[in-house]
Parts: sequence; structure tokens; C-alpha cells
Amino acid sequence: AFKYPTSATLALAMRSPSWEYGRSAEGYGGHFDWRKLAETLKDLTLRATTYALSHSLLYLPPAQQQPLTPAAAIHAPISLFPSPLPRRLFELARRLQSTYNILYARIALDVEFLDRVMGTVEGVGKVDNFVGQLWTGWKKLRDEGSGLIQPLQLGLFRSDYLMHSSETELSLKQVEFNTISSSFGPLSQQTAALHRHLFASTGYFNSYSSMKAEDFPTNETIAGLVSGLAAAHFAYGVKDAKILFVVQPGERNVFDQRLLEYELLEKHSIQVVRQTFDQLALNASLDPATSRLLLSTGTEISTVYFRAGYTPTDYPTSAQYETRFILEKSRAIKCPSIALQLAGGKKVQQVLAEPGVLERFMDDADARNLLRTSWMGMWALESDIERTRIESHKLVLKPQREGGGNNVYKEAIPPFLDSLPEPERAAWIAMELIEPPEGTGGYLVRSGVDQAMRTEVVSELGIFGWALYGGRDGKIEEKEAGWLVRTKGKESNEGGVATGFSVLDSIFLV
Ligand code: ADP
Ligand code: MG
Ligand code: MG
Repeated sequence: AFKYPTSATLALAMRSPSWEYGRSAEGYGGHFDWRKLAETLKDLTLRATTYALSHSLLYLPPAQQQPLTPAAAIHAPISLFPSPLPRRLFELARRLQSTYNILYARIALDVEFLDRVMGTVEGVGKVDNFVGQLWTGWKKLRDEGSGLIQPLQLGLFRSDYLMHSSETELSLKQVEFNTISSSFGPLSQQTAALHRHLFASTGYFNSYSSMKAEDFPTNETIAGLVSGLAAAHFAYGVKDAKILFVVQPGERNVFDQRLLEYELLEKHSIQVVRQTFDQLALNASLDPATSRLLLSTGTEISTVYFRAGYTPTDYPTSAQYETRFILEKSRAIKCPSIALQLAGGKKVQQVLAEPGVLERFMDDADARNLLRTSWMGMWALESDIERTRIESHKLVLKPQREGGGNNVYKEAIPPFLDSLPEPERAAWIAMELIEPPEGTGGYLVRSGVDQAMRTEVVSELGIFGWALYGGRDGKIEEKEAGWLVRTKGKESNEGGVATGFSVLDSIFLV
């Protein structure tokens, strides 16, 4: 298996039990001062949690523990040390982002392709009720005379990767591409700042001469994501309009959203309104003549930013779908449109990997090659059940869902296949498991736990980007918008901070 280059070994040792001596875990020869380590960790943990509490690196406590107006917050789960990432892979991921921004903008505009892959006639929508509902509503709006009046669409994206170690090399492989509610941008900026602060304020990291301030890349997700929202708002072009954040009731990750809201106001003088689907059902209407989206206060909405609506539980009744379709039909710019949400489905990711499909969206052969080197093998589950059974130990099965906790891994696959009704196979894809390098230790800090927990970890890198597209000029305006690292215990298959598997982390380049 792959070994880190020598320049990284010292930095990695920092995350092993004897990191303060600058030696690998095996190298301390029995003279290790455990008491000193415990003190150091305690001090670092206090510094880290205090910094987090001071810089909105926060979560609301569970709903049953908070009054209607929140009175307290807890710090988000965090990693005590940043994760090492080869500079070349970080630069590759950032270079890829622009290509991915353009690719997914083009997919969202390719109605024929989305109908075929996600629709209820030939596509996943046939067997997946959630996808089917969204597609059917979108199709109905397209078929109505008045149709979809706003050609512009906005995507705030996050492309997720794991490092993959083969016999000979370490590469970066894409886990998935998120087109709706891509979260933790702002909290990731704060986590990167936290690690830079710990580096600068203590000597603990400095025992490694190989670590320099420049090895901590800057991370400006707040300005980056907000520049996308502001671009949509100004393209809409109504001075007193506001941006609507569609949010979940009982959302705990509110600070991640509020930091975007504050930046919109402070840097761009744009006001934000937050509403749930249920509030919008009472408050939102369309101006009959112009299809402008208006709230009962008279406020006009320029841009609808969804931090809800990505999962079936956001639509307990048909009323929430109705509200979604009213928003879709409006003149406001949607982030994302239903088309772009469908484009982010795992099925689309898998179909893109079929021979000849990428050519439909990308003329540039170099760009296609670069994209393809970032992919693992994928196939439609229904296309090869035998292979899926035989190779199950190195596979993950994924349905068309977001938000974590929906996949089936390895040995759970054969019994799952036995229980899955045959028609439903069409809703799933099979994907080869990415194999991250071994031997990376980490210290994870969860709220209310004094002791940082040492464990073998796996880190997932996400690159944010945005695209504003769909206008008659055919232009795609797009930018990269910072990054995120989530770190989980190696024994956990799933990632996800909101689902409790991962902690927020950052990187230093090696
Ligand atoms: P979701 O949209 O629910 O986040 P993902 O595709 O990101 O779905 O899968 C959830 C988690 O499962 C990822 O964060 C990652 O930890 C793990 N995972 C997904 N695909 C793979 C893969 N091919 N190899 C290894 N781990 C994977
Ligand atoms: Mg994911
Ligand atoms: Mg996802």
C-alpha cells in the first residue's frame, strides 16, 4: 500500500501518540511521557473548544433541549489537528472544480438527458417515489403554457473526494457531487482558522520544522459562496428584493447558514428571509401578471436558496411539494432548480461514467480525461447483479438520497440484494469503494466530552464552487469557493457531520 512521502512522515507523526517528540509511534523506545501528553492534549482541547465557541463554530443543542428562541449553543465536533494532504492532490481538486461547475450546469440544462435518466417513463423516477415526485412536478410546469419563466439557475456545489491508495500511487477519487444544500462551508472556514490559530499560538505544532504557516491553505468559503448568491441576486436586478433561505424546522446547523446571511448584508447590502416550507405555504404567493415571488409582507424574492428540500422527510405531505413547485414556477432564481437537484443524483454520476456519455457535455478531451481519473468504477445495480454479489466486499450501493446514512456497504450487500424487490434495483447504483491510506491518527473533540478521542481516521475533502447559468447568451459564470474537510473514525463506513459520524477538520499541505 501507499506510503506518504518522507516530507509528510514527520507531520503525520504529530497525530500519533508520541507526536510531541517528533518521532513515529514505534520510535519512542518506551520512554514516552504519557502524563505530559495528557496535559498537552487537555490544554489544546481547551484552546480549541474556546476558540470554537468564540468564532461561531457552533451547533444548536437538540430541539428538546432548547427553548423556542435559542439561549445557548454547543461547539461543533472538531479535529484537534489538521489532516495532511499532498499539495498536488489539493491543487488537482481545485483545478477540477471549475470543470465540474460547468459540467453540472450543462447537465441541468439538458432536459432530454434528465428526462431519460431521472424521469418516470424511462428513468429512476419510475421506481423512486421522491425522484418521481420532483420530476413529475417539474415536467408539469414545463408543459404548462406559462412554464418556467426564469431561465437563470444558480448552483452552490460541493464536490467530495477521498484519497485512494493503490500499490503505486496516491490519487484523489470523487465520492459524490452535491448540487443542493451543500453545507459546512462557513464552519469549515472557521475550522481552518482554528487550526491556524493553534499553530500560531502554541509551540505544540512547531516541533516539526517541516510545518510552516504557508502549509495551511486559506479557506474563504463565506465570501466565496456569498459571491454566488450575490451574483444571482444582482442578475435578478430588483433593488429591494431579498434572498429567501428555505430551511428545515428544528435545524441545528443554523450558524453555518447565518454566517452566509451576515456576509450578504455586510458585504453586499442584501437582506435575507428564512422560512420553512410550512411557513411559505402560508406566506408565499406569485404575482399573477409577472410571476414574481412575493411574501405576505410584500417582500419580493430575488433568489431562493434551499437548505431544505433535499430529502423525502422534508415533504411529509403533498403540501410541501406544492410549495416547492410554486417556488419553482416563480420568477426568482432557484438555488438549485429542480433540474439541478436531479442532476446531482447518484444515478447521474453513474451514467456519466458510462462510455461516451461525458462527450455529450464536454468537447475538451483533456478535461474529460481529468474528470475520469477522479472516478471510481460504477454501474447500474440492475445491470450486473452477479458481479455486484461477487465483488460486494469492495463495493458500496447507493440510492438517490442525500444527507448521509442511506448507503449499503460490503458484507451487508448480499442480504440486502436478497431482500430488495427486483423493480427497485433501478433506483440504486453500485460503486467501488475508495481505499484511503492507512496509518493516519487523529484526535476528535465532541461537545461535552473533556477528553479528545484518539482514533485511526479517514478524511474526506470537499471543494465548494458555484455556477450561474441558463441565460440566453449561453454563458456560465462560475467560481471555486473554498473547501471542507470532514474526518471520521476509520471503522465507520459513512461520513457526515450532521449525522454524527464525522468531525470538522482542515488540512495542511505536505
Ligand atoms: P450522501 O449524499 O448521503 O452524503 P455519499 O455518497 O457522500 O452520500 O456517501 C456517504 C458517505 O459514505 C461518504 O461521506 C463516504 O464516507 C462514504 N462513501 C461513499 N462512497 C464511497 C466510496 N466509493 N468509497 C468509500 N466510501 C464511500
Ligand atoms: Mg456525501
Ligand atoms: Mg450528498
